[in-house]
Amino acid sequence: MTLIIRSSQIHAAGCYTTEPIRKRSRIVEYTGPHISKEAADEKYRDSPTTYLFGLGNGSKVIDGHGIAMFINHSCDPNCETGEVRGKVWVKALRDIAAGEELTYDYNLYDGDDDEALCNCGAENCRKSMYSSEELKRRARAAKRASAKKALNRKAAGKKRART
Ligand SMILES: [Zn+2]
Repeated sequence: MTLIIRSSQIHAAGCYTTEPIRKRSRIVEYTGPHISKEAADEKYRDSPTTYLFGLGNGSKVIDGHGIAMFINHSCDPNCETGEVRGKVWVKALRDIAAGEELTYDYNLYDGDDDEALCNCGAENCRKSMYSSEELKRRARAAKRASAKKALNRKAAGKKRART
């Protein structure tokens, strides 16, 4: 299999195949040192860009180093990732033609408060690289935060009314 890195419509650089790929084939391993989530948080505290891939229950991550870290996110991807005995593989979700950019759904779940906006251009684009579950969780958290703010305002209002 021959993969190349070149500029991408989706984001910066992307990973392309120069040969057709059959559905379900393993394409490339997501390689890099396996480090603890805490070590990664420490290492990338001030870095807006990371290539971390969560393993298992999320206590360990792969600190991406290799060709797979160039694969961009898409909400309508042609690849998926799967963990097999501690290794993460990128696999074809469908037949992929020579020259196509490889993409998978990042399904981000743990990040700072940035929005991780998606520009994949797919018809079903959810405008974010966070997973649907994470987006729901964030929406609930935002609702709770604004409800709390409203309560605080009410309390402040009462205080003023009493004086
Ligand atoms: Zn998208």
